[in-house]
Amino acid sequence: MKIDRVDVQAVVQPYQDKSWQFALASRKETHGLIIRLRTDDGPDGIAYATAALHVGEVLGGMRQLVDEVFTPILVGGDPFDIEALMGRIDAAVLGYPKTKAAIEVALFDAVGKALGVPLYKLWGGLYRASIPVIRIIPIKEPADMARNAERVVAEGYRYLKIKVGHDARKDVERVREIRRAVGPDIGLTLDANQGWGTPKLAIDALRRMEEFDVALIEQPVRADDFQGLATVKAGVSTIVEADESAGSVVDIYQLARGGFVDAVSLKTPKLGGPRNVKKAAAICQAANLRCRMGMGGANRLISAVDMHLIASTPNIDYACEVGEFSRMDSDPTTGVEIVDGMLWVPHLPGHGASIAPDVAFGA
Ligand SMILES: [Mg+2]
Repeated sequence: MKIDRVDVQAVVQPYQDKSWQFALASRKETHGLIIRLRTDDGPDGIAYATAALHVGEVLGGMRQLVDEVFTPILVGGDPFDIEALMGRIDAAVLGYPKTKAAIEVALFDAVGKALGVPLYKLWGGLYRASIPVIRIIPIKEPADMARNAERVVAEGYRYLKIKVGHDARKDVERVREIRRAVGPDIGLTLDANQGWGTPKLAIDALRRMEEFDVALIEQPVRADDFQGLATVKAGVSTIVEADESAGSVVDIYQLARGGFVDAVSLKTPKLGGPRNVKKAAAICQAANLRCRMGMGGANRLISAVDMHLIASTPNIDYACEVGEFSRMDSDPTTGVEIVDGMLWVPHLPGHGASIAPDVAFGA
């Protein structure tokens, strides 16, 4: 089986909520690339790469990279030779982990389909079949966020991640209103997306929130301020999780080595592919850090791939952000559905997701 062609197609997914906002940006839609590896006498491998300005991957650059740099490396190669092909891709271009992750996913998808097995069987086997989905509540006025949270809980979700980080005092009010609206039994976590600035401000806000039973605070201070994360960790009882600080396997090793955080958010695109998620999870296990899958994108293909990783990795054991496709107006992919706030791992060969019939390559 040899790769003989790589097709890409840009896709846009509008948000249902046109005023969706987090500490770094507001969004009305998300852009990305569907990538299809075609093989001479075997199955296609498909994947999706999210473009995101705030992390420095733009659609035009991603497309050019696939067409001009990655395709010549891949064509003629055997999809089973993932280490060798990804090694050449990593050596050719610095950065662009989301695009590289998508290429790796497409390779694994072709391999899984060629063998007739779901990806979790290649990644350690089925340790768990389902995972609770944590849903993200975007920044708005406190009362609007509380209404939003109530609606999501009514749909069956038991875990919420509240976006904060604009104004620490108002964030306390946001958490108070949401806890009041959803009751005591819903798991609440926060994501400040670096927005609280200084460790002191973060500690002050978190101490004021203690009575509302917040399980975890994600990225309270700047990505490059590892010492600041450690200061927050020492100052509060809430679990402190790194996301933007945990941008690579090496970052996660440094965070673990220095004892800067309690937990790490793993993302397949951010870390550059499934192999790196596995390496990062192993570092977390060795260092006794908690880890879970953060949102890698808002479509079913991304969630399906993450479910195979969660299914086959025992220490990814908290609610994960694998249900954000639910807040989009459209999805260029199909393959997984949420039932009562839970997502179940697909059992079809490869990742089990497909390209929606209305996506036309070359359009
Ligand atoms: Mg985050």
